[in-house]
Amino acid sequence: MTLQPPPLRNDCFALPPGVDWTPVDQALSLLRDRLHPVVARQEVPLMQAAGRVLAGDLVARRSNPPQANTAVDGYGFAAASIAGQDTVALPLVDGRAAAGVAYDGKVPPGHAIRVLTGAALPKGVDTVVLDEDCATGEGQVAFRGPVKPGSNTRRAGEDIVAGTQILHAGRVLTPADLALAAATGLNDLPVFAPLRVGVLSTGDEIVPAGAPAGPGQIYDANRPMLLGLIDRFGHLPVDLGHVRDDRAALRARLDSAPVDVILTSGGASAGDEDHVSALLRETGALTAWRIALKPGRPLVLGLWEGKPVFGLPGNPVAAFVCTLVFARPALGLLAGAGWEEPQAFEVPAAFSKNKKPGRREYLRARIRDGRAEVFKSEGSGRISGLSWAEGLVELPDHAMLVEPGTPVRYLPFGSFGL
Ligand code: AMP
Ligand code: MG
Repeated sequence: MTLQPPPLRNDCFALPPGVDWTPVDQALSLLRDRLHPVVARQEVPLMQAAGRVLAGDLVARRSNPPQANTAVDGYGFAAASIAGQDTVALPLVDGRAAAGVAYDGKVPPGHAIRVLTGAALPKGVDTVVLDEDCATGEGQVAFRGPVKPGSNTRRAGEDIVAGTQILHAGRVLTPADLALAAATGLNDLPVFAPLRVGVLSTGDEIVPAGAPAGPGQIYDANRPMLLGLIDRFGHLPVDLGHVRDDRAALRARLDSAPVDVILTSGGASAGDEDHVSALLRETGALTAWRIALKPGRPLVLGLWEGKPVFGLPGNPVAAFVCTLVFARPALGLLAGAGWEEPQAFEVPAAFSKNKKPGRREYLRARIRDGRAEVFKSEGSGRISGLSWAEGLVELPDHAMLVEPGTPVRYLPFGSFGL
């Protein structure tokens, strides 16, 4: 069964009238309100489901564990039959219970049976003593009491009871989730189809990595970076290549793109050669968001044939930050995974900065000796700083005086799934 969600509304990126510089939080909440999953549902066997997004709640078909069983190798018996005894000696019944090989008989009161880890508890057994605490011989097992009833056993369903919800729609399935689903009797899982994210570079000066480049030409750094980010976010990266600053070429590339959403970089300003914004404006479904963020302007959001287009800045650092801060949560929503806030940590700064009011700032940062240090330059063309960094320091919209030791918000790249 393939269920296709409705298209996005044409005005989904419109800003309220009068808005000029949009604060980051407002921009994020607009995205959050207006985007919804655009991917179809499908079923996959759980062997292929790691990293996929659940499209429905999962209900345990079976309890875990399905039966009461022993947690150790040892001897099982009924606790009531040795109540109050300090030293215990019980005759052993013939046979044993092992994992997957049940003991069919009933163990009479006052008797014990050899049990191995994982074995279902035989009838008449509710308690187990560990091998190491036992002496055996002459058909008997001896150990010291008192023994707590139920010791060294696992109750049926003590982890999960059949019929309970184990995971909710929107969950990005972890390896541990697959263990849980398998243990509770599930195999075919409802998931969303992977979100296909196209990545397109624009600009007359841009040449692909490895090609001969003349003076004044720039290697396409954004495309491999963005494709790699998409992959790490768990979506399907689709390389849409590079187009020159030519509106017809750009239009043709967007038209034929076999994707659900498009990330472009470059050409997003309002200049003569900024064809991404010009083209999207022609379709009437463009909002050039001037977000109060550094680095990261301009960011253009639009729809092309109903597909969201994120027009990222050309500068690699700005493109990277905008992708993490804006595109990532939006892509998560489009992919059915819901809106995810990156986990942030408050850490003391290892740097000084007199931050001006008016826009939020993201600094390339990393933690050393428990303090956040920042890259030596804030220049948004400094690609080496992205490579140096292991996270971002987020400074608030308002002014802030940072001195060594001042608590700052640190977002490790791991919080963005990198
Ligand atoms: P634009 O937004 O097109 O004016 O580009 C802003 C800056 O980013 C310019 O210096 C571009 O050369 C640079 N730039 C644009 N696209 C890329 C790219 N794919 N890789 C590296 N730099 C780029
Ligand atoms: Mg350009």
